[in-house]
Order: sequence, then structure tokens, then C-alpha cells
Amino acid sequence: MTTSPAVDTAMARIIADENEHVAHNYHPLPVVISRGEGAWVTDVEGKRYLDLLSAYSALNFGHGHPALLAAAQEQLNRLTLTSRAYHNDRLGPFAEALAELCGKDLVLPMNTGAEAVETGIKVARAWGYRVKGIAPDAATIVVANGNFHGRTTTIVGFSDDPQAREGFGPFTPGFVHVPFGDAAAIEAAIDENTAAVLIEPIQGEAGVVIPPEGYLRAVRELCTKNGVLFIADEIQSGLGRVGATFACDREGVVPDVYLLGKALGGGILPLSAVVADDDVLGVIRPGEHGSTFGGNPLAAAVGLRVVEMLKTGEFQTRAQALGEHLAAGLSTLVGNGVTGVRVAGLWAGVDIDPAVGTGREIAERLIARGVLVKDTHGHTIRIAPPLVVRATELDWAVEQLRVVLAR
Ligand SMILES: *Cc1c(COP(=O)(O)O)cnc(C)c1O
Repeated sequence: MTTSPAVDTAMARIIADENEHVAHNYHPLPVVISRGEGAWVTDVEGKRYLDLLSAYSALNFGHGHPALLAAAQEQLNRLTLTSRAYHNDRLGPFAEALAELCGKDLVLPMNTGAEAVETGIKVARAWGYRVKGIAPDAATIVVANGNFHGRTTTIVGFSDDPQAREGFGPFTPGFVHVPFGDAAAIEAAIDENTAAVLIEPIQGEAGVVIPPEGYLRAVRELCTKNGVLFIADEIQSGLGRVGATFACDREGVVPDVYLLGKALGGGILPLSAVVADDDVLGVIRPGEHGSTFGGNPLAAAVGLRVVEMLKTGEFQTRAQALGEHLAAGLSTLVGNGVTGVRVAGLWAGVDIDPAVGTGREIAERLIARGVLVKDTHGHTIRIAPPLVVRATELDWAVEQLRVVLAR
């Protein structure tokens, strides 16, 4: 099941140890990282790799960004955790800045992305009953085929990926599936019990699947017309990745609810949030929802710095320009071991020709050449470099990919 180098090296022993004591819920690529700086990581044997995954976009600002480390270190020395039983002096400023970045009134802080999604589901249902007037326990949420929203039992229950679901039922009812990218299917699925439409504006885990132009605008219009909340899971697509603050910005669309996570914690700690106006998020009353670590001052201090960095627009601009550069490079591989490329900002799904190998095999060959990527769904590799990467480094990575595809 697990891949480890056949030779008895320090790295092989670390991998064997890990495999002996860590549950096998992942199948990591055979590399053991011990340091990171910017877009680069170093393994235990001193070999360097360009990180083209960025922990699934949690490291949008790269490893050890000095401004983020400084915010964390300063806060570490002052106060790390209070619980929400008390106020702390960092949560308010973070929430104010994040709400402003999103153009919304309120922030509900959580930790992991899955918790933000769960919170979004609770908010949608409570809003459905208390504001829209849906009959008790009848609320439904429209979701897309091919979705990835996390790993809780409720969330995997509305996944259509057998690997995510099988063996974990029974599942939470109340979800209706439609094909991704098909606005007419959403219109047909909406009825008087529909509380929300929950989608990723670009499906990351599915392989950076970009919906047809106009889809997000159509979803916005349908939700407005039918009195349904539009919930955008921007946990992976948001916070600079696609060359804009949010993937919804690409169509000039504002959802009712943003779900944020991953890069919000600056690659330092888990920090997620649900962001919406008072008429939506205000439905949650004291005692109805919470989290011991949600809104802790350490995460809030890092999150505030993340928001300040995004406010300059610098990372969004970089992602756009570097993404165009990467797209041009990757397009030269189409027909040469690559069957298709999808790019949005600095985020790419690259479909590998089965004749040259699986996504996993390509990722393993790239390790030997100092490049880290991650395969998804068999024959796709996902490229999501830290937004601090340089154009010349992307060029070099594309050349490494060209070499391993030709092998
Ligand atoms: C990663 C991800 C999640 C889940 O986030 P976790 O922090 O792993 O729980 C949810 N939605 C999307 C779109 C994601 O990419």
C-alpha cells in the first residue's frame, strides 16, 4: 500500500516508522520534509524541492512568510487561547478586517474547512426555518456532483465519490445533487424547501474544474429570484489563488455566504470562517454553535495579518500574472504526454495521458527531479504553487514535467 524507497536510508526509516504508528488514512508521496522557506522545502537528507502543492492552497503565502511568522510569534508571547467564554483583544480586529475584505457584516470563526462547511449548513437550515419559513426538518441544500467539502460524516454523505462515502453511512438527509456547471439543473432542483445552493466556484479536489463562463452569475440570479442562499465554498479557491480575492470575483458575483479556510491561517494554524450579512449569520443565537478553539487570539492574530496582506492586492496580481505564465508553459505539453490543462490564476489541473503514466507515477518521477505536485482522481495532477513563487521557477518546473512525461 505505502511507497517507500527500497534502500535503507534515514528517510526510509522515518517513513517506515510513520507507517507503523500513524493510521493509513493517507498515501503520502515518499518524501520527508523537515524545512520550508518561500516556495521551497528541504527533506531530511538536505535535498530541495519546489513545492507546487502549497498544502492544497493553505500555503498561498509560502512557507515561513516573515510577516506571518512575526504576527504569530508576537501573539505566542502574549496570549494563545481564551475560549469564547471570554472576549479576547484579537478576535474583533480580525473579524472586522475579514468582514470588510468580503464586503459582509459578520464573521463566525472556526478552525478547519470542514467545520466552516458544517457551520454553513447549520446557518442555511436555521435561516430556512426562521427567515424563509420552511416547514420543520424539511430544508434541503442543493449541491454539485464532483464536490469536495471535507470529511465529516454529514459532508461525505453528500459527496458522490465512493471512496469518500463507502463504509461511513448512514448519512444526513437533506441534500439534492445536480451536475456541476449546469445552472438549468439548479433551477429545476429548487423548490419551496430549498434553503441554499452550496458549491465550490471552481472544484479543486475534482481536478481544478472550472465551470462555464456565466455559471456563477446564473447561480446568483437563481438564488436571488427564488429566495435561496448562495453559499460559496472558497476554502481552496479563495484568498488570492485564482488571481482575485475570491473565485466568485471572476464573474463579479457576491455570494450570500463565503466559506473560508486553508490560506486564512497563513499555513501556520487551522483557521476557517463563515462570512455573511447580519440577516443571514444573525440567525445563530448564543449557545447554538461554537468551538473551543474557534476565534482563538493566536489564530486571529495570524488571520488579521493574512487579511492585511490580501488587502494590498499584491498576491492577487501576482497569481494572475504568474498563472498566465504557467498556462503558457503548460500548454506546450498538450499532445506531449498531457491531454488537457485547466488554469485559473495560479492553479492548474493537468490531465496526464494514460499512455505515459498515472498522476501518481508522474508525481513520483517529479520527486526525483525536485518538484512536488499531487495527483488527484487517477490521471490528473494539481499544481498550486505558493503565490510567492517566481516565473523562472515555474519555467523550470514545467521543464521537469516535460522530462518526466517524455520518459
Ligand atoms: C480542503 C477543503 C475543505 C475542507 O477543509 P479541511 O480544513 O481539510 O477540513 C472544504 N472545502 C474545500 C473546497 C476544500 O478544498
